[in-house]
Amino acid sequence: MLDRTVNIISTRPLLIADTLQRPLRDLRISVTDRCNLRCTYCMPREVFGKDFVFLPRAEILTFEEIERVAALFVQLGVQKIRLTGGEPLMRHGVEHLIEALARLTSGDGRPVEIALTTNGLMLSRKAQALKDAGLSRLTVSLDGLSEEIFQRMSDSTASVMTVLDGIAAAQALGFSPIKVNMVIKREVNDKEIIPMVRHFRDSGVVLRFIEYMDVGSTNGWRMDDVVTAREILERINSHYPLRQLDPNYQGEVAKRWSFVDGRGEIGVIASVTQTFCHECSRIRLSTDGKLYSCLFASDGVDLREPIRRNQDDTLLTRLIIDQWQHRADRYSQLRHEATTLPRRKIEMSYIGG
Ligand code: SAM
Ligand code: SF4
Ligand code: SF4
Repeated sequence: MLDRTVNIISTRPLLIADTLQRPLRDLRISVTDRCNLRCTYCMPREVFGKDFVFLPRAEILTFEEIERVAALFVQLGVQKIRLTGGEPLMRHGVEHLIEALARLTSGDGRPVEIALTTNGLMLSRKAQALKDAGLSRLTVSLDGLSEEIFQRMSDSTASVMTVLDGIAAAQALGFSPIKVNMVIKREVNDKEIIPMVRHFRDSGVVLRFIEYMDVGSTNGWRMDDVVTAREILERINSHYPLRQLDPNYQGEVAKRWSFVDGRGEIGVIASVTQTFCHECSRIRLSTDGKLYSCLFASDGVDLREPIRRNQDDTLLTRLIIDQWQHRADRYSQLRHEATTLPRRKIEMSYIGG
């Protein structure tokens, strides 16, 4: 069986499916569990305060280890790799990792798309290096234009202008389209929805609204704090009429809408109220080398230990295939029941958003 696997992957991508017939297409890699913000919905300061112990350097996968794992995934059909975290631009030299990953090609010769999600604080000074390294896609998170609201959401003294400057620098280098992610929390930043639309709708940036999710176990999530996709769209539509667009590709999680007057596009990611587990093709590699088959998983498969024991690619490939073939995750679909269960969920900053 092992030999057959190796034969197949040496000639073409081996497409593997999980128990719900979902293919493995996307790999998200958390390159650091650290961050220079403390967004209340992700890394609340009460938990991630000055006494919080982040992963020691020795436990974090090296770039060489990440490259090795990523290459195996590409052989298994992964077409898109997203670097995330934590804040990925805080990982020293991340552009060197991007450069190596951008050289990967799938068995049929297609280049792999390399994407990155960042809070944008270090983007102005990193954008050129990211471009030179071959980064294909850039997503920047920004939860409002009001300084007061942004600082409240990110529990920081960082400035909106720093993020906007980063976006402008990246646009000037030709990253297009840049996506801006905005998580909406009721009565915290929902009044920023329309100003954000107004600001970005003529700029070539695709603004994407994300329903606030119950990731991890620390953000104190309550359904009452979620502004649903439907409500977000109604609010925008009453100012700027919208019409729905077709997805760019099968399995796209954001529903796309354009302004009727032709002045731009938005996306809405309804992870809570319109779940997309049925076509979820993502796997996540944590900062310390564990593989998680769902954002809401409690346990992962450790790849670091076999890598550091000098196990060969055949064994690592076997671990990956086994995990995916046994995968039955659909947490969001089952959310209502699942949140009543006393389960421990992994934090997003560690597993990769
Ligand atoms: N630090 C980077 C950033 O903020 O863009 C990358 C990591 S962050 C975990 C990735 C994305 O997850 C961000 O767009 C963030 O807004 C989103 N996110 C984090 N916690 C969330 C939550 N509880 N619900 C919805 N989205 C969340
Ligand atoms: Fe940091 Fe991103 Fe999480 Fe905010 S959402 S705390 S920027 S990792
Ligand atoms: Fe995928 Fe899990 Fe999210 Fe469902 S809940 S879309 S299976 S990551």
